[in-house]
Amino acid sequence: MELNEDANLDPGQVEDMRGRRGGGGRFRLPGGLGGGGRGGSGGPGIKLPAGKAGIAVVAVVLLCLCGFLCLGQGGLGGLGGLGSLGGLTGTETDTATSAPLDETCSRQNVNRFDDPACVNLAFVNSIQAYWQRALPENFGRPYQTAITRYFSGAVSTGCGSADAGVGPFYCPGDNHVYIDLTFYDELASRFGAPGQFAQAYVMAHEYGHHVQALLGTEAQMRRQQQRDPGNANQLSVTLELQADCYAGAWARAATSTTDAGGQPLFTSVTEQDIREALTAAAAVGDDTIQRKAGGRVDEQAFTHGSAQQRQQWFDQGYKTGDPKRCDTFGNAL
Ligand SMILES: [Zn+2]
Repeated sequence: MELNEDANLDPGQVEDMRGRRGGGGRFRLPGGLGGGGRGGSGGPGIKLPAGKAGIAVVAVVLLCLCGFLCLGQGGLGGLGGLGSLGGLTGTETDTATSAPLDETCSRQNVNRFDDPACVNLAFVNSIQAYWQRALPENFGRPYQTAITRYFSGAVSTGCGSADAGVGPFYCPGDNHVYIDLTFYDELASRFGAPGQFAQAYVMAHEYGHHVQALLGTEAQMRRQQQRDPGNANQLSVTLELQADCYAGAWARAATSTTDAGGQPLFTSVTEQDIREALTAAAAVGDDTIQRKAGGRVDEQAFTHGSAQQRQQWFDQGYKTGDPKRCDTFGNAL
């Protein structure tokens, strides 16, 4: 893939909170969702069991109680414990003194695409430009922009506190996507999914959750989980696979997305890029993660879908380019 050097990025779609300690308590936390007790080991106020056996359970608990919608939380847990990025937790990190993104990522900076923060901003712009058009076109609803917040180490959100160990996520409580960009190093090294388009897939998946929030799918799914707790995991898988499919639909349209002035954001997306996205989708599959964690594959514990399912639904979105063909739920809702 190649980003267009001439495109004007919209830095207003990203808030750079890196280097701020845990978000500084700027957000009002919903009751009972972990206002207190954020431990170094993990998620929203929930003490995490140390053993592998607890990982799948924890992923579900986080998902159900806290409303975090992640790429595969259990994944990070399984691959080294939630808080595997714990060295960064609460610390003032590398970028605390860097220039604001509107400067760093402006066209004047010819090296801007060497900076993952600007590359990721370009992804965010492209994904939202796509949904600006695709949501009204396909679902008759207006799209509402969602800001991505870059954080380092730990952050307070409308869904509670989180640290980087949970991976990138969408919080339906405040309609923001959260990412510690160092996750991409993990994605390349531990998950074996390198490449910029693997990163684009991650962002497109999270924005898929935003679309689900706008369409009410996410809320419907939660209600259904309460009515039918025995199927809670399966319903979660269905939601996650739909987000993968939405990511594929965006990927298909990526080269036709533009900045506010009509300049394309991408100059190319290649077959190799799509393979990178598919590799990433497989790498965060529940079975891949369970295996890497040294456990047996337990389908009942899946919350995001198998490697094959995740690839298949990304591919469905990509091949059809039609988000209406992302109906993973069927009659389940
Ligand atoms: Zn997800």
